[in-house]
Amino acid sequence: MSRKKIVAGNWKMNKTLPEAEALVKSIISGCPEGNEVTKIFFPPSLFIEKISGLVNGKANFHVGAQNCHHLPAGAYTGEVSAAGVASCGAQYVLTGHSERRIYFSESSEELRQKIDVALKNNLSPIYCVGEKINERKTNGYFHAVKKQIEDVIFYLKPDDMKRVVLAYEPVWAIGTGETATPDQAQEMHAFMRLAVAEKFGPEMAANTSILYGGSCNAGNAKELFSCPDVDGGLIGGASLKADEFLMIINSF
Ligand code: PEP
Repeated sequence: MSRKKIVAGNWKMNKTLPEAEALVKSIISGCPEGNEVTKIFFPPSLFIEKISGLVNGKANFHVGAQNCHHLPAGAYTGEVSAAGVASCGAQYVLTGHSERRIYFSESSEELRQKIDVALKNNLSPIYCVGEKINERKTNGYFHAVKKQIEDVIFYLKPDDMKRVVLAYEPVWAIGTGETATPDQAQEMHAFMRLAVAEKFGPEMAANTSILYGGSCNAGNAKELFSCPDVDGGLIGGASLKADEFLMIINSF
């Protein structure tokens, strides 16, 4: 089994360029030498090139884009392309984040296209899935997550699937301060791994990193990361402070 342990910081629409640079410098300098966790910063797109310059040559540090358009290029004012963010140094891209599904009505079809265009441009997609509160309360959460997985990644060729990271992000836990319990997270991560195994085989499932996201912070990361199927975290609010992000990195 060779799946990576990953801690990714999704900064969303936060930070100015000087603040972003200061944050990254503090995290890099505070990270213990030889730390093997894969660390990925997801700054706003306009800072990708600068942040990429700061992490360049720093072992296990990477930069990703929070989004890219599902089409390769064209007349889409204000959008960014996969080729564009890759040319600025991004190596990963978030796809399927619930804020994009909800506020930008991203459909499964668009997400399939987004993952395709990302892979063609050598970006590894982090594909986010997660149920809404009503689906949790009515026991529809396995069905909701399975559908998001089936609709978007089951069509991939195995060689492409190898480059995908999954993230379980229950919508009710994102930015709310309410976290899935370790039991809830483990139950869903094991279910997702089984879904990958059923479609792509046990080896692929064993090698796919599945991150937890949803109010993960320095206080709860250790317990969540100790679950056998939780391979790290996709961190929103708690990724904006260097000391807290460093504590999360050190929570394995
Ligand atoms: C996220 O946006 O992916 C996230 C997990 O946010 P937060 O940690 O703030 O809940």
